[in-house]
Amino acid sequence: MAKDHGFVIGIDLGTTYSCVAVWKEQHCRVEIIHNDQGNNTTPSCVAFTTHERLIGDSAKNQAATNPENTIFDAKRLIGRRYSDHVVQKDILLWSFKVIAGTNDKPMIVINYKNQEKYLSAEEVSSMILTKMREIAENYLESPVKNAVVTVPAYFNNSQRKATIDAGAIAGLNVVRIINEPTAAAIAYGLDKRTNCVGERNIFIFDFGGGTFDVSLLTIKDKVFQVKATAGNTHLGGEDIDNRMVNYFVEEMKRKNKVDISGNPRALRRLRTACERAKRTLSYAVTTNIEVDAIFQGIDLCSSITRAKFEEINMKLFEECMNTVERCLSDAKMDKSSVHDVVLVGGSSRIPKVQQLLQDYFKGKDLCKSINPDEAVAYGAAVQAALLSEGIKNVPNLVLLDVTPLSLGKDIVGDIMSVVIPRNTTIPVKRTKEYMTIEDNQPSTRIKVYEGERTRASDNNLLGSFVLSGFPRVPRGHAFCVTFALDENSILSVSAEDKTTGSKNEIIITNDRERLSTVEINRMIQEAEYYKAEDEKFLRKAKTMNDLDYYIYKIGNALKNEDIMSKLCSQEKEDISSTISRARDLLDVDGNIQQDEIVDFEYCLKELINIFERLTEIGNVG
Ligand code: ADP
Ligand code: MG
Repeated sequence: MAKDHGFVIGIDLGTTYSCVAVWKEQHCRVEIIHNDQGNNTTPSCVAFTTHERLIGDSAKNQAATNPENTIFDAKRLIGRRYSDHVVQKDILLWSFKVIAGTNDKPMIVINYKNQEKYLSAEEVSSMILTKMREIAENYLESPVKNAVVTVPAYFNNSQRKATIDAGAIAGLNVVRIINEPTAAAIAYGLDKRTNCVGERNIFIFDFGGGTFDVSLLTIKDKVFQVKATAGNTHLGGEDIDNRMVNYFVEEMKRKNKVDISGNPRALRRLRTACERAKRTLSYAVTTNIEVDAIFQGIDLCSSITRAKFEEINMKLFEECMNTVERCLSDAKMDKSSVHDVVLVGGSSRIPKVQQLLQDYFKGKDLCKSINPDEAVAYGAAVQAALLSEGIKNVPNLVLLDVTPLSLGKDIVGDIMSVVIPRNTTIPVKRTKEYMTIEDNQPSTRIKVYEGERTRASDNNLLGSFVLSGFPRVPRGHAFCVTFALDENSILSVSAEDKTTGSKNEIIITNDRERLSTVEINRMIQEAEYYKAEDEKFLRKAKTMNDLDYYIYKIGNALKNEDIMSKLCSQEKEDISSTISRARDLLDVDGNIQQDEIVDFEYCLKELINIFERLTEIGNVG
């Protein structure tokens, strides 16, 4: 698996923020790796402009000015169909365009370098994964090929497979997909605790940027079982930010007699300030909000207390607590039976949220020693270390996950016949016998479903295939169907007619939503194209920056009368013509073409020579 391939990293590919971590063998601990901005989490955001592609903080920072080409929330699309009602609802909230591609696959429409392009959710996610990989590579100073990537516990087969495909496009071998709550539980090493004989019940409270998920896990003999999950796919830190924005919009109406609600740019700037203030209020009891010239030259200069913040958001917090209650009642578990409560997700840093949760669990200590927005990546890194060769110091656990949904096939009357029930420990392989339903039936179509509904067609159809070659016999002829689920929860199904000895075996490998190898290869090539373009852009930007720097330095040197007096008039003329040429080049507003970059570099060389000459004269003098 991960033999001789160096580090295996753990990546939490979040809806709004992603995080990467690695096990450091020499220090016997996990390190969360910070990005080039010094942040431990990176916005899951990709943007395209007329001259470059941006990923992470830089993409998020320009979102206000380029909303149509700034893609966030790709995780909400991954492994889903365009006609899926969830997708249809989300589209209404997005500033970028999504259309239906082949096989009902959602495609994001963007404009890059004045050309229209179509991207799948896998491609956008692969760009974020590439960024996370680069962050790790910069830190580790070594190439990274393998990763453990986390997904929500409720992700179905096709969402998991699509996540693996995204890894492949990013040039990453996804050695394991694990559930986010499982990763968080691993992070706290809850499975190693010995003070609890038998089963241990763990409640994971994940309050992130755009989603809220709670899960009840049990760990017994190192097997993780998801007992119940509940949540709200549109409840997170961004909703808190929105409420704060509304609060200040109202305040400005009152105090300044202006209404900024119709001005997207003002609202964007206010939202950024509110998010910052919210983070501050997690450790301070009051903070200031300042946005210069937010609207009609008016400066917003105000403050907010933690108490006010809590009041504004109390409804959201209460909704979280109702969901907690629902999850426990779904699992038919009393809250007193919960052994550990684990905080996950950036929004669970909010003190009020922690207090409500602690009160609910009757004063129980919450697991929060690991930063909640880093806990998932942390656990993924522990899992990654377990899968790496040559790592010895990591706690020796055998981690097993369970299947989140039942898997089966349809039988007469559109009934779901379950082959692998939900919550079965994986990997698993199960075979079940079925019969033909008609005399002389030559073949049968096997439809593979996942879900808990009795009626097969109410569940999620994963794919179908035909088993043919039955002998001409009365109905009731037996055949076997085998479902195999590997450690990534990826399913393959085969069917066999044992009585005739003729093996008709078909395995579903590429169902409709899955990308084909050809498509993945095409996307890998495109990824290389984007990478090359990014590099070209960086080279341009760096050269322009250097040009600007040398114009400035030469300008300063020329102010020195001593130097000026030592230059002949021809030299002065040459210098001023080179400088004005450099200024002209810079005037093109960053939109230079690739072939022009050579001119830039040539001009830069001339400027460097001039500057060296001037320094020489200066020193001699
Ligand atoms: P995701 O939901 O994508 O997995 P995270 O778990 O990193 O992402 O959560 C991101 C959210 O957490 C953002 O809305 C961010 O504003 C919020 N957040 C981060 N730090 C804090 C903090 N100190 N206090 C309150 N909210 C925070
Ligand atoms: Mg998360």
